[in-house]
Amino acid sequence: MDVYRLPALFDNYVFLLHDSQDNIAAVVDPAEAQPLLRRLRELGTQLVAIFNTHHHSDHIGGNRELIGHFPNLRVYGGAKDRGRIPGQEVFLQEGDKVKFCDRTAEVFFVPGHTLAHIAYYFPPIQDGEPGELFCGDTLFAGGCGRLFEGTPAQMVNSLSKLRDLPDSTRVWCAHEYTLKNLQFALTVDSDNPDLQARYKETEAARRRGEATVPSLLGVEKLTNPFLRWDRLVLQAKVKAKDPIETFARLRGMKDQF
Ligand code: ZN
Ligand code: FE
Repeated sequence: MDVYRLPALFDNYVFLLHDSQDNIAAVVDPAEAQPLLRRLRELGTQLVAIFNTHHHSDHIGGNRELIGHFPNLRVYGGAKDRGRIPGQEVFLQEGDKVKFCDRTAEVFFVPGHTLAHIAYYFPPIQDGEPGELFCGDTLFAGGCGRLFEGTPAQMVNSLSKLRDLPDSTRVWCAHEYTLKNLQFALTVDSDNPDLQARYKETEAARRRGEATVPSLLGVEKLTNPFLRWDRLVLQAKVKAKDPIETFARLRGMKDQF
């Protein structure tokens, strides 16, 4: 399974999954249809599935147009997004499995950014290969999504599930927010040498016009403050008593940043 990252709208990424053996494709969160339709034509392939993570317009904006082009495709989304995702036919819950060619994704229910948000994780088929995590607006490179519908406790629980995946997992998040996220991270975790190094690399990459997605989950665990709510240095920094309060304060500070 090849994953293509297509820039869309202002700072979104749309992910095209292509199986070259069967020559069929799926898409994660089509913000808009046109960039995807162009790439599908170049590859000479058919779209069979839309995997939506949540109902926000910058993630479902292309659904209708794509269904128009490929009437037989199936639209997958969270069970609790019923009525909010155009064309949705499959209503997924925690632990459900989704097949795409020779790969099977595990579904995680990850409320917080929205109350229905799900993530898709394709475990590696062979040792030494990375798993692929499509996490929408839950986990970002260097950050996490805003809490539009959920509570800090829900989001900590959701992020814990993602944090339990292997370090080699590639994190395909839906926005290019990394540099700004790491600027914030440095304000709360300034003595973290891994974070300092990541910031420098990211700044250089962005200057060269390169994308910072996917990132590696192992790097997120070391540098992303929104996966480090149980670190005492961060708890002390935001004067919190426990992990959830730490997360809540960090999220509140980031909202103002
Ligand atoms: Zn969103
Ligand atoms: Fe978004």
